Order: sequence, then C-alpha cells, then structure tokens
Amino acid sequence: MNNAIPYTNIHTHQATAEDELSIFNAPDHFDPCTSNIYVSIGIHPWNIEKVNSTECLDSIQTNASAKNVLAIGECGLDKLIDTDLKIQEDLFKQQIHIAESVKKPLIIHCVKAFDELIRIKKELNVSVPMIVHGYNNNEQIAVKLLENKFYFSFGKALLNEDSNASKIISIIPIGQLFLETDDTDIPIKSIFERASRYLQIDEAALKEKIYLNFKRIFTNE
Ligand SMILES: [Zn+2]
Repeated sequence: MNNAIPYTNIHTHQATAEDELSIFNAPDHFDPCTSNIYVSIGIHPWNIEKVNSTECLDSIQTNASAKNVLAIGECGLDKLIDTDLKIQEDLFKQQIHIAESVKKPLIIHCVKAFDELIRIKKELNVSVPMIVHGYNNNEQIAVKLLENKFYFSFGKALLNEDSNASKIISIIPIGQLFLETDDTDIPIKSIFERASRYLQIDEAALKEKIYLNFKRIFTNE
C-alpha cells in the first residue's frame, strides 16, 4: 500500500516530478484556471514593492476559491528586508482574511518576526491552519509556535546535520509536520530520508503520515 503513496511536497517553486504530490507556489498573477496542478497563491513579502498589491489582492481573492488553489501564500513577515513592517503586516492580514473567507490554509514566510506572527494569529483569531514554511529556528520559538497551534514545514536545512531544523524536528508532533523543497532542485525524497532518520521512523511510514496530514489539512479528507 505504501508504494502507492506519493512523496508530499507542500511548497515548491519548481515544476515537479510525477511520483510526488506537490503544491506549486504560483508566481504573481498566475491564473489557476490555466492548469490543474495544485497551487498556492499569495504575495511574498519580498515582492510587495515589485507588484501592484491592490491588483494582486484582487486576483488572489478572485482565484482563492478555485479547486486547485490549496492554500494562500507564501505570505508573511520578514524583518530582514527594507519594506516597512507595517505595510507587510497589513498585506499579510488581508491575505489572512482571504484565506479565512475560503477556509484554506496559509503557507507562511516568517523571518525574525515570530512574536508578531503569533500576535496576529491571536488578534485575528485565525481559524485556518497556519503553516510556517522552511522552518529553521530554535527550539524556544518552535515551542511557542506549537503552543499556538502552528504547523511546520521543513526543507533543505535538514540536509545540514547541525541546523536548528535537524536538531528540533523531533519535537514537532507528526500531525503538525510537512516537508518541502522550496526553491531548490533537491529531490523531495532526500528531505524525506533525512526527516525519517531524525524522527526515527521508516520512510514508508513517514510518507504515509505526511500524506494523511496533507489530505486532512489541504483537502479536508
Ligand atoms: Zn518559497
């Protein structure tokens, strides 16, 4: 049975291999109706100053209910960029409202702004799952995020044994865990191999658990 279960990759910027189930992070102004691949749509904080955000938000709102749009994002907060944090927060909140209106999860980019992220989740009383993607921060932050019922997606940092991601992945309850390749060419299989080693469960079992998480969170099955 496990052979039939695909590798689940919840965040990639690349066209994907056939034996994996993935969510393609669509570029701005992507029209989900032009294809049937699973996508997430959103305004990345890095792109705020490059796009017409009103237009982008309109198109996200229009397309958010499309069947193959599985999540809103990546969107979020980044303290290492020049864009004013207030502006980032405002756009992030508008995207949270869209996600709430269609009851779809959020894929979140967060750099050095976890207190703000948690505050916003509380302030808006967000009910859709919020998945922090590319997690590679310390245990203390992970614990706070867990207390606030965030989900986690781990990627390339797992290939470095000394990374925060590698050290703390085992504290994440498996029901709150996802894996991803993001903008790299690394095969998702390699990320699964590492994760299964750190979690001390075999790869087939891990594939199945992550697949079930995907079904539950992204397709309500
Ligand atoms: Zn990404």
